[in-house]
Amino acid sequence: MAEFELIAKYFTRPAQADLGVGDDAALIRVRPGYQLAISADMSVAGTHFFADIDPFAIGWKSMAVNVSDMAAMGAEPKWATLSIALPQIDDAWLQRFSAGLFACADAFGVSLIGGDTTRGPLNIAINILGEVPQGQALQRNGARAGDDVWVSGMLGQAALWLQHRLGALDLHTQDVAVLATAMHAPQPRVALGQALRGIASAVLDISDGLLADLTHILEASAVGAALDWTAMPKPLLQQSAVTEAVLQQAVLAGGDDYELCFTAAPQHRDALSALSAQLALPLHRIGHITAAAGLQVFNGEAAVVLSQKGYAHFG
Ligand code: ADP
Ligand code: MG
Repeated sequence: MAEFELIAKYFTRPAQADLGVGDDAALIRVRPGYQLAISADMSVAGTHFFADIDPFAIGWKSMAVNVSDMAAMGAEPKWATLSIALPQIDDAWLQRFSAGLFACADAFGVSLIGGDTTRGPLNIAINILGEVPQGQALQRNGARAGDDVWVSGMLGQAALWLQHRLGALDLHTQDVAVLATAMHAPQPRVALGQALRGIASAVLDISDGLLADLTHILEASAVGAALDWTAMPKPLLQQSAVTEAVLQQAVLAGGDDYELCFTAAPQHRDALSALSAQLALPLHRIGHITAAAGLQVFNGEAAVVLSQKGYAHFG
């Protein structure tokens, strides 16, 4: 199969665009009064995923991590390009991969409008574009002393799965299944992101661990934060016994959560509770922003101390 047949077979679908796959460039139109939000995320075999996992999951997640960046900006995801390096043409793999990729794209209204296909070690680079009403994007630099710190959903599940997969943590099969879903099928919080426009003072999505990512908000906003361990969402394990230290490491510093972490003034608490119910998505208020720099986590009176702060590619 030639490259062009491969593109036609696996990566060409009807697109919401003036011109999609097949020409030298795609053409799109942004609605008047909106800004284009643009982001890129690369997924590399061996770094971001185990090469032996279901290609459907690789496809879903490669798209989901990009959609999550649109969520974090309060943008509506709309278009994506896919640049992919493949070691060989494996039809069964491409079938599952493209099914997972389009399942996520369809779930969040994203059209694949172009890309590039080449031979090489498995590497998936997606560019995503979205629309956000002019001036309403959610940035990292707006947190103010006294704001609450919130997180959506559950934290630490993917990190526990990873520890299990690496052989460092013994878990019951039933729990592994739940944690594996969190790792392989993250749900980008797009509806939440858009609803946070006009409410949140700073937002980002958690990909490298809560503390590492929250630090980006704190630095961009020139503030600090105090968090309450007892207020945080923690993985509910049915069958497995896990120490508090392992849980803290996973929840506070584990990667791959793809939940939103945001700050908002206390006056918005009721609106956020209502939003949580409306979206059927837990929102936990886990601490507050301080004028003094630094990030501390308390468990009652005691400070929580971690062995590692988060994932760093070159750390
Ligand atoms: P060019 O000849 O300009 O280099 P290509 O041969 O790389 O173009 O690609 C042909 C068309 O297919 C282009 O419209 C390109 O955007 C699209 N395309 C290539 N690879 C992919 C892919 N993996 N997914 C989606 N579209 C792709
Ligand atoms: Mg090309």
